[in-house]
Amino acid sequence: MVEAQHPLVATPCAGIEVQLPFGIHRICAVAAASTAAEMRKLVRQAMRFTRTIELRLDWLANGAQRQKFMAWLARSGVRANFIATFRHRAAGGRYTGDIAGQLIVLKQAVERGCSWCDVEMETASRFRAGVLRALLGPVKLIISFHDFRRTPRKLPRLVRHLESWGADAVKVSAQAKDLSDALRVLSLVGRKRNRIVVPMGDAALPLRVLALRQGSALAYAPIGPATAPGQVPLETLRNLYRADRISRRTRVYGVIGNPIGHSLSPLLHNTGFQARRLDAVYLPFRVKDLSDFLKSLAAIGIAGFSVTIPHKHAILRHLDDCDPLAIDIGAVNTVVVRGGGKLYGYNTDFVGVLRALERRMPLAGSRVLLFGAGGAARAVAFALARGGSLVSVCARRPAQARALARSVGGEAIARRHLRREFFDAVINATPVGMFPHSDISPLAPAELNCRMVMDLIYRPMKTRLLRLAERRGIATISGVEMFLAQGTAQWEIWTGLRAPQAAIRRAVLAVLRQEKRAGFHARVRR
Ligand code: NAP
Repeated sequence: MVEAQHPLVATPCAGIEVQLPFGIHRICAVAAASTAAEMRKLVRQAMRFTRTIELRLDWLANGAQRQKFMAWLARSGVRANFIATFRHRAAGGRYTGDIAGQLIVLKQAVERGCSWCDVEMETASRFRAGVLRALLGPVKLIISFHDFRRTPRKLPRLVRHLESWGADAVKVSAQAKDLSDALRVLSLVGRKRNRIVVPMGDAALPLRVLALRQGSALAYAPIGPATAPGQVPLETLRNLYRADRISRRTRVYGVIGNPIGHSLSPLLHNTGFQARRLDAVYLPFRVKDLSDFLKSLAAIGIAGFSVTIPHKHAILRHLDDCDPLAIDIGAVNTVVVRGGGKLYGYNTDFVGVLRALERRMPLAGSRVLLFGAGGAARAVAFALARGGSLVSVCARRPAQARALARSVGGEAIARRHLRREFFDAVINATPVGMFPHSDISPLAPAELNCRMVMDLIYRPMKTRLLRLAERRGIATISGVEMFLAQGTAQWEIWTGLRAPQAAIRRAVLAVLRQEKRAGFHARVRR
């Protein structure tokens, strides 16, 4: 492994304007484990990605494990910018002893090769500026503030207070309830190069990824277990989001929904950007409150976004203009942000299902049963009708089935008739059979009288419904086909380029197959 020469290694303390890590090394891996052996393993893993590593010494189970780990650190010869942290419980850590004990451990860490110490404000406030530095020895100092409950109101004043210790860098970590809070934390960076900002919580996840772009000296990512809410794993931050390469020129896209954690859209879009070498990133936004997201659009600089449950309908009234088809469907899953922040909506679920079906069967003159009458079913029904199919809708609420059938000139059909009706294709547009409830089917084998069965669900790739159909010799289409087609259609709308279909398909299928091998899709029956 080539050792990067780093300006921080073994340089003496040089006052407040020191050179902080640069490039990839601005991603700081967080190593936190209870035994010395696990900690060593994490450090070695982290070294594959970055040379800036925070050692959470407070996570080590006891003094013996700490001594063992620090002895290894001293003799290992590993060259990295180690940040020693021995966080007290009062500041969200695991250490419960007194301050003298805390400083002794930090000083030992400095003697064993840590070039930085992170000392929380609660501890620092027990000393006058300069005394702490004298106590710890030749080390660069980060004074940090943490609030795991909220984003405090008077943040600028807080930063000035932290800077009064004359440390080499100051760090503010605060729980953000929404994007507005997270943006307030990021705005603390200003023109200073020695400020580290960490908005915490699920809602702030995209802004953790953008922190380096905003000028934060470091972005933290766990190499092992998460040490703070909303952290993005190191490998994801580096390889999926390429956080160290994001600049102010990078175009930012995303998906909004709630929940959003398991979305494969970031993988789909970022794979496309990387394959075409575009300076763009796509991030997951867990959005509860649509207006909080919309008012943060300009500050984040978002160029376009995907929309998923529960916002596909609600977004309509916030748009400046909309594709007429999306208005007919009553749902938008793609938004382009044009000049002046104007929002333009599309529905690519429509194209997605058309592309997936037309490859496998002629739609004109066919009769297709649509099971379910929600948002996705509406896009499917319009696509089928445009393709020339007669759409039969069956839903547990007959009035909804009738309304949808009427809007596409189709027919509503009662569940009890399914056993004696024949269709060219049957499409499941309900979430029944989706992970974690993967071993149930929305329809019984006797209700599958058709040539083709399609499930809109893509997790798992092969649902119980598709397996039942296969057993009856019926051809099947997985929801992953629609997922890929609707996603690449979005990608093409935003970039104006042809999507790298093969690279995207490979990446998405690899993850779904890996999940299948890991038993991810077959776990629970509740
Ligand atoms: P939605 O708007 O919530 O509609 C769900 C529909 O399923 C409603 O008609 C609902 O009936 C019905 N339903 C729910 N539980 C049911 C049950 N136990 N038995 C019978 N019917 C039930 O959701 P959506 O946005 O249309 O999404 C539906 C599915 O499509 C989801 O699994 C989603 O992941 C998938 N999808 C896939 C793609 C893709 O690209 N592959 C794209 C979009 C959606 P009620 O109205 O009575 O609750």
